[in-house]
Amino acid sequence: MSRLNKFRASLPEGIDAFLIAKPDNRAYLTGFTGSNGYVLVSRDMALILTDFRYIEQVAAEAPEFSAVDYKASLHDALQQALTEHRISRLGLESDFTTVSNYQAYKDKLQAELVPQTGPIEKLRMVKDASELASMRQAAAIAEEALRQTLPKIKVGVSEAFIALELEVAMRRLGAERIAFDIIAASGPRSSLPHGRASGRLIESGDFLTLDFGAVYNGYCSDMTRTFVIGAASTEQRRVYNIVLEAQQAALAAVKPGLLGKEVDAVARGIITAAGHGEHFGHGLGHGIGRAVHEGPSAGTKGEDALEPNMVITVEPGIYIPNFGGVRIEDMVVLTPAGCENFYSFSKELIVLY
Ligand code: ZN
Ligand code: ZN
Repeated sequence: MSRLNKFRASLPEGIDAFLIAKPDNRAYLTGFTGSNGYVLVSRDMALILTDFRYIEQVAAEAPEFSAVDYKASLHDALQQALTEHRISRLGLESDFTTVSNYQAYKDKLQAELVPQTGPIEKLRMVKDASELASMRQAAAIAEEALRQTLPKIKVGVSEAFIALELEVAMRRLGAERIAFDIIAASGPRSSLPHGRASGRLIESGDFLTLDFGAVYNGYCSDMTRTFVIGAASTEQRRVYNIVLEAQQAALAAVKPGLLGKEVDAVARGIITAAGHGEHFGHGLGHGIGRAVHEGPSAGTKGEDALEPNMVITVEPGIYIPNFGGVRIEDMVVLTPAGCENFYSFSKELIVLY
């Protein structure tokens, strides 16, 4: 079944049509990659309302959809489609529609508005073969970029330099762009779970956490490794190994049927038993795809049951103020029996000189 027909089949009873404006959802459902478009789908209609720039592109990229040039007024064009197809109850993306857009729809459309949470996000959680192929490539690009960058990391270079090297390597290897601002957090800054690369210079004895991803074919990868510069102290090794043990236990536990929060609990149990529960203040992982963060959650509130072909990250961490932090992150796809890791990059503690 095409994504369009899957979505149609999932349209709740009592909703005649659904309006999709969120760019990720639009691209996922239609294949149309332009920057402006409102997708209107009912059981017997599939339109993309856009402007002059994209009429030809819609025909090429989204053959299941008809392109409508809405010219002066989106609302007039929408109303015309609603009238033509006798739509009286219109679903909207409740987590994307702004208050002012909602008000304008309310004022200008003769339809009952029915905000809905994430019907397309739900479909997006389970990946098809082409999505998985793109994500594998996005992961391979990031992993190879890390390999190429490691020899350039030494005492005296800045976090920003390392981030730039990683970015350039990913772009050279075929990434469309980076998936998010690269996190390069060294020394005491490594206790910031999301410390963006700064001008700080790398020193001997630092932890260095690198968290980065590539986008390929519109799909993201996400990976974290933590290194030590010069030599690792006993305490650094101890903390690192707790995170590694938690990460490996969670990876071994991931399988269809578990709730996201149950996978989180596996890693959290190990970190808490080691006395660092309060230093692991974020969820274990998240779904990933067109967005770096999407469903299903693998955090403490992850209520979605895992299914084959979902992709999640597994990224426990320990962050100790004035000492530093460690995070290890892989991205895995659920298989019928467990999961398959997208990365093969070593997770032993690597000391860089
Ligand atoms: Zn990450
Ligand atoms: Zn992540």
